[in-house]
Amino acid sequence: MTDEELHGHLRDQQGSRAGLNTPVLILDVDALDRNIARMAGFARAEGLQLRPHAKTHKSPDIARRQMTAGAIGICCAKIGEAEVLAEHGVTRGLHITSPVVSPAAIHRLIALNERTEELMCVVDHPANVAALGAAIGASGKPLAVIIDVDPGIHRTGVCSAAGAVELLRSIRAEPGLRYLGVQYYCGTQQHIESFDERRAAMDEKADYLRTVIAALTEAGGAPSIVTGGGTGTHRIDPGLGLFTELQAGSYVFMDREYLACDLSGDAGLAPFETALMIDARVISANTPGLVTVDAGFKAFSTDAGPPVVLAGAPASAEYRFMGDEHGMLVLGAGQTLPLSQVVTFAAPHCDPTVNLYDSYHVVQGDTLRDLWPVAARGRSR
Ligand code: PLP
Ligand code: MN
Repeated sequence: MTDEELHGHLRDQQGSRAGLNTPVLILDVDALDRNIARMAGFARAEGLQLRPHAKTHKSPDIARRQMTAGAIGICCAKIGEAEVLAEHGVTRGLHITSPVVSPAAIHRLIALNERTEELMCVVDHPANVAALGAAIGASGKPLAVIIDVDPGIHRTGVCSAAGAVELLRSIRAEPGLRYLGVQYYCGTQQHIESFDERRAAMDEKADYLRTVIAALTEAGGAPSIVTGGGTGTHRIDPGLGLFTELQAGSYVFMDREYLACDLSGDAGLAPFETALMIDARVISANTPGLVTVDAGFKAFSTDAGPPVVLAGAPASAEYRFMGDEHGMLVLGAGQTLPLSQVVTFAAPHCDPTVNLYDSYHVVQGDTLRDLWPVAARGRSR
């Protein structure tokens, strides 16, 4: 079935959320749109560009809404994600935030550069710069590259200012490459729960970025783009005076990890809302104080602890993984829930949870409005 047919099929049988088979990935479109508007408004007010990360949603439908709200482009973790967005009409300002190194992937990257506008990708090694330069040659459409700077977690990025300058020189030696700036993504700082501690950690990280930018500038490579930041640090990053754009991702949905964080540091701001939920169902209720729901490892990511109950069971009910297909809900002593009761959960960690589902069931209140494919599901290469 094509996407078009799938959508038509769904529209014909518009029904209620409560009637859906479970476990099911639910997206509250009004909350989603409010989250998208809030981050767009925040970036605009701070004078920064927004290039939200699609690793969270893997959805052209959501990327289009972000672009309509003012994003200058969309970040993608891998070339496969970017290809899917481009196939579905999101063709401006795609940025690949992890190095693209294999010959086959470089070939696809160059092809994508030909058919999109303002594509960029990170580089963090002279050998990769040479491989990209050789593949494009002197006559191909130039590819924009961003020097990835390691903030100290040793995931990707050059690990010194001298390394950044060396990379700048190797980029300059390739006629097919165009240097645009730097990326600095502080992954471990995003989930520091206290706002003040997160800000202190970012102040420290900013000192190093400042040194790298100064070294690049001295070498004639003042960055026109400084991209980075996530949902956790978005309120802090503009004040550092270094970033030109933000690449936050999770804010569209929120998850248990981010619900535990104080994101704004002051009470006056509307927080991001939980737009992404998993509806599960009680399928066994024979032991007093416990029920079993139909959602286990295949329904929630397992890297970030258990999901939390949002509705359908007491908020104090504790979820425990019970295997691939099952979860236990520990209720109060002697308590139970009716068979087939729907229980709504917040994802423990949104990105890897979304990747477990084929589609979002898009709702407004209890009404099922649409079905959006997780089109880049599994496109991790
Ligand atoms: N940028 C990069 C390079 C990332 O890896 C991520 C997430 O892991 C993000 C941005 C988005 O961060 P968040 O989902 O915390 O908003
Ligand atoms: Mn994440």
